[in-house]
Amino acid sequence: MEELRDLYQEVIVDHSRRPRNFRVMADATATAEGYNPLCGDKVMLYLKLEGDVIRDVAFQGSGCAISTASASLLTESLKGKTTAQAEELFEGFHKLVTGSGAPDKELGKLAVLRGVREYPMRVKCATLVWHTLRAALKGERQPVSTE
Ligand code: ZN
Repeated sequence: MEELRDLYQEVIVDHSRRPRNFRVMADATATAEGYNPLCGDKVMLYLKLEGDVIRDVAFQGSGCAISTASASLLTESLKGKTTAQAEELFEGFHKLVTGSGAPDKELGKLAVLRGVREYPMRVKCATLVWHTLRAALKGERQPVSTE
């Protein structure tokens, strides 16, 4: 179990140091901004939607290792998914990091963030980009705040 935990940390550190899809998307069809005042994490999320399929995802921002890794992992998980599948992933991920139940879906790489549940302060770091995703999909214009 200890080994598994180390492995997870390795993935988190890797994604926080070399975030994937970390760029501005000029032709995004949906965007949203999120802020976690507790930690100072900021994220700008870009989506390219074709109908209800997420063709491309990118983000920019600055924050702690957990928020950056979570955003990076989100971008990798969402490409090619429908907005309904994205919502299911959100729900599963939320259960995973808050420890409020077993996700009904296989979460793939997102599961590396399950250790966050032991650090309540960090849950908002991990979920910020997901709340931002939901706002982008709903077309909300107000920046999302975790507070
Ligand atoms: Zn943070």
